[in-house]
Amino acid sequence: MKCHDYKDLMMGYLDDELSMEQRGRFEEHIAGCGDCAKEFEEFKKLKAITDEVALVEPEDKLWEDYWGSIYNRIERGVGWILMSVAGILLLIYGGFKLIEEIVKDPSHVMTLKLGLLGLIAGLAIMFVSVLRERLYFWKKDRYRDIRR
Ligand SMILES: [Zn+2]
Repeated sequence: MKCHDYKDLMMGYLDDELSMEQRGRFEEHIAGCGDCAKEFEEFKKLKAITDEVALVEPEDKLWEDYWGSIYNRIERGVGWILMSVAGILLLIYGGFKLIEEIVKDPSHVMTLKLGLLGLIAGLAIMFVSVLRERLYFWKKDRYRDIRR
């Protein structure tokens, strides 16, 4: 084998892809050939750098995912709060309009009026709660489908 052939083995040697026999011959040649030994050192340095780059890349990806998920959580959290507040406000407003009509009517007793007020407020909160739950599980299911 000529020097040129050993140079072809360098990558395989560093990646641990050579047979025992090839490794032995390669090491033997490097020990006796200054030219190849020098080139092999350069090759090792180059490989150390490329390995480092290969390690940095997945880490960047992890950070990207990390910040992406935090952003999603904040976005969703704000979305939920706005939706809940808006939903409760709209329902309470609608409820109060209805109560106003009943309260104005003197033929209804106070107990009935208070009962209706509580009923409408309770319904408003329950409606938003159920809606939120439904949407939450729907989102979760959809997310799981994407992951699969
Ligand atoms: Zn050589």
